Amino acid sequence: MYVPFVDFHSHDAQPALPDVVRVVSLNPLDAPIHHEGLSTVGLHPWSTALPNAEAALAALPAACAQQGVVGVGEVGLDRLRGAPLPQQRSMLARQLQLAAALQLPVVLHCVRTWPELLVELRPFATLRWAVHGFRGSPAVARSLLLAGGCISIGPALLSDARLAGLVPELPLERLFLETDGHRDVPIQVLYRRVAGLRGMGVDALKCAMVHNFNSFFGQCVLSDRYN
Ligand SMILES: [Zn+2]
Repeated sequence: MYVPFVDFHSHDAQPALPDVVRVVSLNPLDAPIHHEGLSTVGLHPWSTALPNAEAALAALPAACAQQGVVGVGEVGLDRLRGAPLPQQRSMLARQLQLAAALQLPVVLHCVRTWPELLVELRPFATLRWAVHGFRGSPAVARSLLLAGGCISIGPALLSDARLAGLVPELPLERLFLETDGHRDVPIQVLYRRVAGLRGMGVDALKCAMVHNFNSFFGQCVLSDRYN
């Protein structure tokens, strides 16, 4: 069986290498035109202050129905950028409601708003969600896992010793790896680093990430293509 590398979250809409399956995050207003692979669609917290934010939210339901759209994201909260936090929270809540109604998983961005994020997620007990680009503390990781979420680790792993120390502690079935669109850090590098930290082989890690991908997105996108 041929097993690809899964890049759980990217902004790079260029075609990936043949052995990489990449999920690209798109603004709903861009979704129909810009991408033919797998994608998530959502209003990024940084875009919540843009004049077209409401138009993007209005376009989200139709964007979710596009071919290849497997989830909602990147959405979330950011204390340092975007609209004032109350407005970000209401925009996030609307997108979470849509994801729940459509039974789509959610890819989340969170900067210095962990308690607020967990409050917004609380009404959606059956929602599948993952925090991407995680750089929080071990205590925050525990609270996310306790709330039922997954954690996606990106290029920060290569420079953040605390994150490297956390990686072996995370349950493998709740873990994803991502480039977040950083072309200077190929996804293969992150797989090798994580496999080393966890004392496992890269092939076993690839299989685990494909399994997680299929569980998270609720469809055998990769099995259909690679089994
Ligand atoms: Zn991102």
